[in-house]
Amino acid sequence: MFYLLIFLLQMKLIKLKTDLIKAIELDKRLGFVPTMGSLHEGHKTLIKTSQKNCKKTLVSIFVNPTQFNSKKDYKTYPKNLKKDLSYLKKLNVDYVYLPTIKQIYWKKNDEIKLNKSENILCAKFRKGHFEGVLDVLDRFVDLISPQKIFMGEKDFQQFFLVRNYIENKYDTKVYVCKTIRDKNKLALSSRNSLLNKKGFIKSGIITKKLLSLKNEIKKNKKNYKKLIFNLKKELLKNLDIKIEYLECRNTHNLSTKIMNKPFKLFVAYYINNVRLIDNF
Ligand code: AMP
Repeated sequence: MFYLLIFLLQMKLIKLKTDLIKAIELDKRLGFVPTMGSLHEGHKTLIKTSQKNCKKTLVSIFVNPTQFNSKKDYKTYPKNLKKDLSYLKKLNVDYVYLPTIKQIYWKKNDEIKLNKSENILCAKFRKGHFEGVLDVLDRFVDLISPQKIFMGEKDFQQFFLVRNYIENKYDTKVYVCKTIRDKNKLALSSRNSLLNKKGFIKSGIITKKLLSLKNEIKKNKKNYKKLIFNLKKELLKNLDIKIEYLECRNTHNLSTKIMNKPFKLFVAYYINNVRLIDNF
């Protein structure tokens, strides 16, 4: 009996599409957490939320080549499979899907295109990035048919586009989970491991400044452009960073109309060639 229980509780590691289809055939209330690995507490929150809300949870680890707009960025993306698998085992995940590129990209799909109003924030600076994200998630959802997908608020634009695309096409709901931060308020990210000590300190300082900027804007919305301009100037003068964008956007539709509307402050910046994004 004991061994049967251990067997039943075991995490299933799946590499082949055919094995995946067989394994989840009877799972109607499946939660799906797509990841690119190098797992941390941010991913853990998504997994725990899925486990609370779904009968079974499937986590994928796939560094998706089509969402990288730089070969070097793809090649240097942090990988940590052994550690990831023991992390997922401790979390009692039911299924881990580790597909190869060939298994996922078995047919071409050039149909996914963002429209003009979606070509903002990260989409503006990373050409083809979200087309790659939507393409891979389309393939995953087609294969897995999850009841629910869990994504992080840290990548809010990604969540926004994926929710619109997937909920339009499939009977799957996409949920967002809050951003998990370290003691310096820096959002956890697999890319943080590429920062050196100085970079970590700087990104902590920047995050705190952005958090107070958000509070200032809340109190003085009319002047938000000036407040952003001033902080941008200060950061560029005092810290050796490159800011890609620092913008306020409407939380419901990502438009720039934020007066009397809920809004978020979005940022993307580089510290020593490491690109970090966040929103507040
Ligand atoms: P990634 O492995 O970076 O592709 O991320 C997989 C999922 O984890 C995405 O939905 C991310 O938004 C989410 N995620 C990444 N970092 C965090 C974080 N610090 N807090 C919450 N969710 C996160």
